[in-house]
Amino acid sequence: MSTDVMTAPAPAVARPAGPAIAVLGVIGAGQMGKGNAHVCALAGLTVVLLDVRQDLLDRAVATMGRNMERQVNRGLITAGDRAAALARVATSTDYAAFADCDLVIEAATEKEEVKRAIFRALIPHLKAGCMIASNTSSISITRLGAATGRPEKFIGMHFMNPVPVMKLMEVIRGIATDEPTFQAAMALAERLGKTTAVAEDFPAFIVNRILVPMINEAVYALYEGVGSVVAIDNALRLGANHPMGPLELADFIGLDTCLSIMQVLYEGLSDSKYRPCPLLVKYVEAGWLGRKSGRGFYDYTQDPPRPTR
Ligand code: NAD
Repeated sequence: MSTDVMTAPAPAVARPAGPAIAVLGVIGAGQMGKGNAHVCALAGLTVVLLDVRQDLLDRAVATMGRNMERQVNRGLITAGDRAAALARVATSTDYAAFADCDLVIEAATEKEEVKRAIFRALIPHLKAGCMIASNTSSISITRLGAATGRPEKFIGMHFMNPVPVMKLMEVIRGIATDEPTFQAAMALAERLGKTTAVAEDFPAFIVNRILVPMINEAVYALYEGVGSVVAIDNALRLGANHPMGPLELADFIGLDTCLSIMQVLYEGLSDSKYRPCPLLVKYVEAGWLGRKSGRGFYDYTQDPPRPTR
């Protein structure tokens, strides 16, 4: 054997490239869907954004424009990048617009029955090789994938909120997810400048398995009178160096989403330590969902937001 061969650097491990993604569908134009559309359009993908009503879509595109404007003002992108990205985004309330999609990201409300109904309506419109990702915070990727009839092309792509700012994407394979779909998700994350954390498909994956029980415990501390909203948030911000207090963070995530995640943990792991706090349930029943509805643990109609307890 020649010394050349002996000393040659080991060949890079070949990573099979997943199918290329040029056209993306995004379902749900809420906090996450518009964030997904924002980063993907800036990365050069053609994006079709879908929601149940056109006024929601118009509002989402206007917010994306304002958020990109902020990035222009900070020198992160140019005005040309912004204009080109917005020109790549189309909106629709009809799944027929998804016929050319290479990947569809589902980012609708965190309710399994909502997501299942969406997949039933979506599937007949997709071309054969189209992959589907869910941005779910907690629901089983294996179960959702099974509901699509193409579980090998189904994967969890858990973007974080706000998507343009947060560096992480959790990637979750269902039991049937094939390797090209996994590689395509990893390649898209890289293209978007995200760092990935690969998580196994167990309730709430990694981030929310740890984060949301902490939020739920903060709501219990409030419920039991251990501290006020301000005391609890200050305690964690200043005492544990968290950038946001847990109640402020709950309002930011959405209290309905936090409650759904606790329910998935409680039912999925059959452990009473995950029982949702009754006060969290009450806020959601009242429609006090946090920032997105104007009121949660803080009242966002006041400036600065005023604690509600
Ligand atoms: P959101 O309430 O802001 O938006 C949900 C959107 O889905 C709404 O615009 C709603 O009209 C739309 N929708 C509901 N039913 C629909 C249907 N049948 N067809 C099409 N659109 C429909 O919620 P969000 O915070 O954007 O969360 C969306 C998903 O992302 C959830 O699965 C959530 O768990 C996940 N997620 C949320 C966060 C967060 O911090 N909020 C972070 C990561 C992941």
